[in-house]
Amino acid sequence: MASGKMEEAVMRPVTLIRNEEISPRVHLISWRREDDFLPGQVVKLALGEGETPRIYSLCSGNREEEMAVLFNVREEGSLTPRMAALRPGDRLYVSAPYGTFLGDEAPAWWIASGTGIAPFYSMFRSGLGSHHLLVHGVRYLNQFYFGEELQREMGSRYVRCCSREGDGEVFQGRLTAWLQQQASFPSGTRYYLCGNPLMVVEARDILIAGGVPWGDIVAEIYF
Ligand SMILES: Cc1cc2nc3c(=O)[nH]c(=O)nc-3n(C[C@H](O)[C@H](O)[C@H](O)COP(=O)(O)OP(=O)(O)OC[C@H]3O[C@@H](n4cnc5c(N)ncnc54)[C@H](O)[C@@H]3O)c2cc1C
Repeated sequence: MASGKMEEAVMRPVTLIRNEEISPRVHLISWRREDDFLPGQVVKLALGEGETPRIYSLCSGNREEEMAVLFNVREEGSLTPRMAALRPGDRLYVSAPYGTFLGDEAPAWWIASGTGIAPFYSMFRSGLGSHHLLVHGVRYLNQFYFGEELQREMGSRYVRCCSREGDGEVFQGRLTAWLQQQASFPSGTRYYLCGNPLMVVEARDILIAGGVPWGDIVAEIYF
């Protein structure tokens, strides 16, 4: 059962269904969903029973048959290179979902860098997104994971920022530069930040300088 509280990390074996490299060195893996969860929650993953696990946002809808996670391969990392080499049928150890970075129907801006899009994609696939603006910042155009679907479904409420390439359609620059160009930030809106620590801190400072109350900012940092 999903809960908002940090739970004891009891790790349960699951069988991998899919492992797809959806962009260079970025993988989407999935297994059969056996738990309820709230969109925005995370799980702990490990390859062995006694191993120190790592934390990942769930990246699938909460009524879908499979549970998915999106991750970057850290070449020198202890888990991700081995996780990237898994094949369907291999075993993975997964904790129960937990966490308090939760989406709801209320108006919000979803601001993500890189694989930080995962919890927002989970929220979107769980039926949220009508009152939400999704801002995704990446370095290269092929890192707009799920971009076609998001563009089709969210239209102008999906803003793509690309810092090292352009195609005439996306905002060329970092997402923090896009934020800085906004004339104002709507009130009565929550601002969700997810991704690398530098982006989260810079975006938070821009929002606060733009008059967003501290209490309206929610952050999940991938460190
Ligand atoms: C709440 C939360 C949610 C997260 N969700 C996601 C997600 O959805 N997707 C995702 O991709 N990541 C996510 N992360 C990050 C994830 O948990 C891992 O930290 C990440 O995948 C790296 O794991 P790893 O074992 O491969 O690398 P690690 O072994 O943890 O190493 C990470 C980096 O540190 C370097 N390093 C390791 N040891 C040393 C050392 N002794 N000295 C110097 N450098 C060292 C490695 O070279 C590597 O580049 C999340 C983190 C948190 C806290």
